[in-house]
Order: sequence, then C-alpha cells, then structure tokens
Amino acid sequence: KLSAKDVNLWFGSKQVLKHINISFPKNEITAMIGPSGCGKSTLLRSFNRMHDLSPDARIEGKFALDNLDLYQKGLSVTQVRSRIGMVFQKANPFPKSIYENINYGLAINDVPKADRPGIVENALRESYLWDEVKDELQKPATRLSGGQQQRLCIARAVALRPEVILMDEPCSALDPVSTAKIEELIVKLKKDYTIVIVTHNMQQAQRTADKTVFMYLGEVIEHDTTDNIFNHPKNELTANYVKGHF
Ligand code: ATP
Ligand code: MG
Repeated sequence: KLSAKDVNLWFGSKQVLKHINISFPKNEITAMIGPSGCGKSTLLRSFNRMHDLSPDARIEGKFALDNLDLYQKGLSVTQVRSRIGMVFQKANPFPKSIYENINYGLAINDVPKADRPGIVENALRESYLWDEVKDELQKPATRLSGGQQQRLCIARAVALRPEVILMDEPCSALDPVSTAKIEELIVKLKKDYTIVIVTHNMQQAQRTADKTVFMYLGEVIEHDTTDNIFNHPKNELTANYVKGHF
C-alpha cells in the first residue's frame, strides 16, 4: 500500500498540507475530492517526489510504498517514478513518435532492447489504444486526439509496471466519450494497481472509486467508502461539499 504518515508541507511560509495520515490499499481506486486549492495535487505530487526541485517546499513526515521510504537516501526519482506512475490533467506526451513515448521510459529503466517492442504493444493494448494506432506507431504523438493522448500517457505509465498510478484530473480536458473510455480503463486497471484519482467530477468519483477522500484547507477531513462519503457523510463539511453547497 501507498501511505503518508504525519505529513506537513509548506510552500514558503504557507502551510499547504496539515498532519496528513492516509493510506491507499492495493487493487482499489481512491478518489480525492475537495475545493480548489485544498492541496490535492500537492499531496499526490509528494508521493513521486515532484517537489524535490522546488526550493521553497519544505516537507515533514513519511511517504512510503509498503516498506520502502520514498524519500530515503540513495533512492532516485527515476526509481520512485518507475514504481509510482503519474498521469496529469493535460495529456503531456513527449514530442516524439507514439512508439518512442513508451520506449523512452523503457530505455531509461534499462529494459533489454529486445523486450521493448512487445512491452510497447502490450501497454498500448492494456490502455485500449492499440487498435487505433497499430499502423501508425511512428506518427508524432501530438497528432493524436486529446483522449488518445491521455490513453497514451496511461500506456506510458503502465509500460513500466508500476505498483501505483496517480491521476490528477485525468479527464477534465476531455469530452464525455473519451472520459467514459478512460473511466472504463481505470476501473479495469485496478486489478493490477493501486489507483488514486483526483477529480472535481462527483459522478466520476462515484462511478469509479471504492474509497473517497475529502480534503479541505490542507487536511483530510473524511476518508471512507465512496458510498458513505456521498450518501452518509459524517462531517458537515463533506456533506456540504458533496451536495454542491460550497
Ligand atoms: P485544484 O483543485 O484547483 O487543482 P488543489 O487541491 O490541487 O486545487 P494544490 O494545487 O495542491 O490544490 O494547491 C494547494 C495550495 O498550494 C494552493 O494554495 C496553491 O496556491 C499552493 N501551491 C501549489 N503549488 C505551489 C508552489 N509550487 N509554490 C507555492 N505555492 C503552491
Ligand atoms: Mg490540483
């Protein structure tokens, strides 16, 4: 499981995460919801060390994947990110061919050359993209549609066989049909991964997530089954937020 223990995070003098204690179990999808600015992206990004290069970020606490301390000395960001993949709001394929977008990470992680074409194909199949792109693997990825680019970014993540996939509003730039495809894909992937998805789409959380976390002003207010969060919230802030009264 993926976990954060006693985490506090500041950007300069502003505290953005406050005593966060949370864990995300394997083979489950957890949705993270909460108003803009409450710290969802900051928390998600902490797990794969995206604040390492931010000079004004100060982090206390512990981030772990099972027994592995994700910030331990000698563990490189590349190593962390091969185990914890991330997909962003705006699909961000490299300005390279479809094939190279996936092959690149394999090369960085020293996957034997002979294995790479098969892994690329599998990752594209797993991400429901293979049939659409199999005849044009050398085409620039940036010419794909937005939904296809996002599935390519998911393929790029799964190709490295991570244990966790973190998704920060992966569908917010997509049309309803592409969104439905990605949701179907996310639900299918949970049998192999720990998945955390940040979303502002309450229906999306209810359609996909086993558990839901409600954050407010840098704190985890409530973390429960998705059904309880939406239908039987214990906290008044959660109740107001899921009803849209915020
Ligand atoms: P949204 O739903 O709008 O994406 P969020 O819950 O993801 O919001 P964060 O992006 O985590 O919110 O931001 C939390 C707070 O941290 C905000 O006040 C934001 O301005 C601040 N913040 C985020 N990144 C930085 C940074 N690199 N430097 C300084 N402040 C930052
Ligand atoms: Mg965000």
